[in-house]
Amino acid sequence: MPPHTLDRIVIVGGGTAGWMTAAALARFVRNGRTKIRLVESDEIGSVGVGEATIPPIVAFNSLLGIDERDFVKATQATYKLGIEFDGWLREGEAYIHPFGDYGRDVDAIKFYQLWLKQRSKEAIPPLEAFCLSAVAARKGRFAPPSPDPRSVLHTMAYAFHFDATLYAAFLRKFAEAHGVQRTEGKVVDVNLNGATGFIESVTLQSGEVVQGDLFIDCSGFRGLLIEGALETGYETWTHWLPCDRAVAVPCEANGPPIPYTRATARRAGWQWRIPLQHRIGNGHVYCSAYETDEAARETLLANLDGATTAEPRLLRFMTGRRRKFWNRNCVAIGLSGGFMEPLESTSIHLIQAAISKLIALFPDKRFNPVEASEFNRLTAMQFEQIRDFLILHYKATERQDSGFWQYVRDMDIPDTLATKIELFRSKGRIFRFEDELFGEANWVSVLLGQGIVPSAWDPMVDSLSDADLRRNTAQIYQAIQQTAEQLPRHEDFIQRFCAAEPV
Ligand code: FAD
Repeated sequence: MPPHTLDRIVIVGGGTAGWMTAAALARFVRNGRTKIRLVESDEIGSVGVGEATIPPIVAFNSLLGIDERDFVKATQATYKLGIEFDGWLREGEAYIHPFGDYGRDVDAIKFYQLWLKQRSKEAIPPLEAFCLSAVAARKGRFAPPSPDPRSVLHTMAYAFHFDATLYAAFLRKFAEAHGVQRTEGKVVDVNLNGATGFIESVTLQSGEVVQGDLFIDCSGFRGLLIEGALETGYETWTHWLPCDRAVAVPCEANGPPIPYTRATARRAGWQWRIPLQHRIGNGHVYCSAYETDEAARETLLANLDGATTAEPRLLRFMTGRRRKFWNRNCVAIGLSGGFMEPLESTSIHLIQAAISKLIALFPDKRFNPVEASEFNRLTAMQFEQIRDFLILHYKATERQDSGFWQYVRDMDIPDTLATKIELFRSKGRIFRFEDELFGEANWVSVLLGQGIVPSAWDPMVDSLSDADLRRNTAQIYQAIQQTAEQLPRHEDFIQRFCAAEPV
């Protein structure tokens, strides 16, 4: 074994971030020497929300070797085919940002470009009608995608809604079975090396001192190690993403779970609705400069499907990111690294992405700074790309019904986003930057959904005759509608393959 191999990794925090990290490291760091220990405090508890995900979570579970249906059962999960944005452009109008592709490209020309040209000539169904995930979502149907690229079902993609507390418990079981040692205890002190500033150990309330070579800060918003001890600094994005509070409450369901998340715009923010097998998760994200806590709570409680099953909880946050995610021998993963509101369900994905990067740049005891700096560069870029995508939802609105919507409509936006919008406005072009999470289909659905319509189409489309264009569109439309109609109902699929124990 090389002499510099890490002996001890200490993870502080046992929320979603802590247990995802513990599970993944236990699965992949199997050198026979490195020990992984997780410290969490029952007294402090975890944030307990974070129940909607995006498709890469499927790969995370699969890399860990987790049986998907066991996972769905254990976490009261449902399948998610996209997000419906209700009232974001104008009150009373809704669109779906689906997972998966639109139509079928022709000679490397994107389907949505063909659609743009055709819609300029005649009335055709909305773009949504050419995406199987969106059509299946609207019809309340679900089946896993087909691996056969010739099948329409291949164009579908999915994620999950799950109970965050059950997910952490599920991963804990997995991680402990793979050798992670869990310690219940509150960290009361972080001990730094006087010469290097590296973290040497953390002291628990019990007096125990837990030493480590690498520390992962999964302590949530407080950033106990990365900020509390290392004073890394935080870059705020509240001028672009001004929502700073959420009130969350679960309620009873009044029907079968729909296979998508709903995000409904409200006077000074928006409300989420996440259907699980045993309940519905709800929350109202809002901006405290334009809405009182009491009014936000009332709005939430007035817009639920059924009776509440717990007391509403208030959460405060500040959108932005840590200036460095990896500082010395400490890596911040989860809320300790930064937060953007859950509009596109990206936080759990950012945890997963940070874990992948940490594994790809796994350090030894020498902590070569180039590894940390590459981790920081890649993570910052990913945060900023997601930030721009979220800002788009606010900026491109026609709502004027409150000071909040007027503010976001009129605010300046990052140049990176302004360029993207202009490029799309011109001929509907979108370019995915290095490894960007959201690709063309994602951007197209939100740009069009938010009322940004290109003034022309890509000239390459003109190589197709109008007759070919019409035939192609009609065939795809029919294939998608028929396929969606034949899929099982979402609730039947769950009942048949992965129903959780009733609670
Ligand atoms: P936490 O859950 O806060 O866990 C922190 C852990 O650190 C806990 O175990 C705590 O006990 C421990 N800890 C803290 N201090 C100490 C100490 N001194 N000693 C010992 N242990 C300590 N993400 C999504 O992907 N989808 C969503 O739909 C979504 N919705 C959200 C809605 C809201 C309103 C908010 C605020 C977040 C949402 N998120 C969502 C984000 C998601 O909840 C988090 O990314 C995820 O739960 C990870 O949280 P965490 O593990 O970093 O922090």
